[in-house]
Amino acid sequence: EMSSSGKGKHILVIPFPASGHILPHVDLTHQLALRGLTITILVTPKNLPFVNPLLSLHPNTVQSLILPFPFHPSIPPGIENMQDVTVNFLPHIATALGQLYEPIIQWFRSHPSPPVAIFSDHLLNLWTHRLGSTLGIKSIGFMPMNANLVFNCFANVDEQDNVFFREMTLKMMESWGLVINSFTELEGDRLDLVKGFMKHDRVWGVGPLIPIKGGSERGGPTSIPTDEVMAWLDSCQVDRSVVYVGFGSQIRLNKKQMEALSDALEKSEVRFIWAVKEPVKGVKNEEDDQGIVPNGFEDRVAGRGLVIRGWVPQAMILNHRAIGSYLTHCGWGSVLEGLIGGVLLLTWPMQVDHYFNTNMLVDELGVAVRICEGLDAIPNSKNLAHILAESVNENRPDRIAFMKLRDKALDAIKEDGSSYKALDDLVNQISN
Ligand code: UDP
Repeated sequence: EMSSSGKGKHILVIPFPASGHILPHVDLTHQLALRGLTITILVTPKNLPFVNPLLSLHPNTVQSLILPFPFHPSIPPGIENMQDVTVNFLPHIATALGQLYEPIIQWFRSHPSPPVAIFSDHLLNLWTHRLGSTLGIKSIGFMPMNANLVFNCFANVDEQDNVFFREMTLKMMESWGLVINSFTELEGDRLDLVKGFMKHDRVWGVGPLIPIKGGSERGGPTSIPTDEVMAWLDSCQVDRSVVYVGFGSQIRLNKKQMEALSDALEKSEVRFIWAVKEPVKGVKNEEDDQGIVPNGFEDRVAGRGLVIRGWVPQAMILNHRAIGSYLTHCGWGSVLEGLIGGVLLLTWPMQVDHYFNTNMLVDELGVAVRICEGLDAIPNSKNLAHILAESVNENRPDRIAFMKLRDKALDAIKEDGSSYKALDDLVNQISN
């Protein structure tokens, strides 16, 4: 049983509305609630499905505060989540949500037992930081990333010429505390470097945060029901024989990439699940031919592979014994899910942090394989087919090394493990 060191103290959690951010906030909130805090989590209406499983798990201690998504001239009406737009919308979404400042202050002032601390995604700290000081409460930044990325942001802040990211990074350094989804056994040295920049010790590595149960369809509608996907995986006799292919919630592949990948999957003869993201209707994209599965492909691989469109129950898939490897964009959430699942990572980094993550896993630790690099890269389908086929072999040194790292990760989150204790300490420090 968990200690209830939180003594019922109330905190406000403000996630950034992108899957790779809101889901780890949900998983973090779960851990904080287990430790006796009372929590309000702020969402706009369309993001409620992401937090509903959490609200059901903690009906008495976790509540939602639902506020309408504010108007912003650059954001099409109805958009409330990054998964519906391209990455350049990020500052707009963060800025739009800044208009919730006054409504939150009003909510706080009329609350019988207002929060003693705000946890907010670092992407929102341009205004959540000010909110904390206006209300006179602690403000804690949550980075659903690793310490390596935080360290790199801090170390290079003077060279950052994007004003939004520069200001955000500077604010992050000023916060009362910082929570990072990583663990000492993986990044103890980086966590210390981050502390050096913060000039205090309130930096907590609490990862890997484990996905809470019951949230398989939390990100939207899916083309194949979760129990059918699971039944298909159950029917795969050989453990670690299936390749999962998925590029997170943001990335959509263009026509040439889709062709190369489908060709490789076909040639490889492996079993696979492919998560395909289609373009969002009504949002203008530079390319309008994204996410199209080549004609006839699905018939040719019927029985051997599944193509899932829309939201995919990724964490559940990666935890299935039948999955052996994962062709990934290397978003940190996906990396951790692959680690927990013990699934060899084949990396295809696409955007900023993906490169850092790939470098760490492939070049520094030797626990993953780099396939290709870049948003526009087109893999050679013959080579890729070969890599996919080889990736499900049991006795590869990179797989064995990755499994060792997995043991360390699982130890870190066990009772008395480093991340477990960090969460205890975090809750203690907030409550005192
Ligand atoms: N995710 C999912 N189904 C999808 C797409 C994404 O469950 O169809 C989850 C995935 O498991 C991970 C998060 O969304 O927890 C994505 O985070 P990540 O940091 O990997 O990538 P991003 O989407 O931010 O690029």
